[in-house]
Amino acid sequence: MDADEFINDALAQMFLQIHAQFGDAVKSYWFNDSGVCPGCGRQVGPVKHKGKDAISLNAFIYRKPGVLIGYFLCQRCMKEVFRTAKRTPGQQGPRHDAIEANLIAAYRQHMSALDS
Ligand SMILES: [Zn+2]
Repeated sequence: MDADEFINDALAQMFLQIHAQFGDAVKSYWFNDSGVCPGCGRQVGPVKHKGKDAISLNAFIYRKPGVLIGYFLCQRCMKEVFRTAKRTPGQQGPRHDAIEANLIAAYRQHMSALDS
């Protein structure tokens, strides 16, 4: 299994779980494969987790069209999001808001590219 297949598989699994939980609130899924971190615009590469290369697949539900969007963060943003989540559980910080806004923009761009 190569990395792309792995990601697709992981995202499909996640989609199935979320679909089972939320039903038709999620209708499809999409992976943001731009290679750019939606938090800060840097390139995303392998992240280190406990000293090992790791893939950190994140996802959020873009509610309006009901799309589960999968994405990678760079190491820095990932750490920041984790830190914020620890400090204020259940609330997302400004970085997270920016990430979601950027992902929504990327998704819309992707969809309009399909239309034309
Ligand atoms: Zn970043």
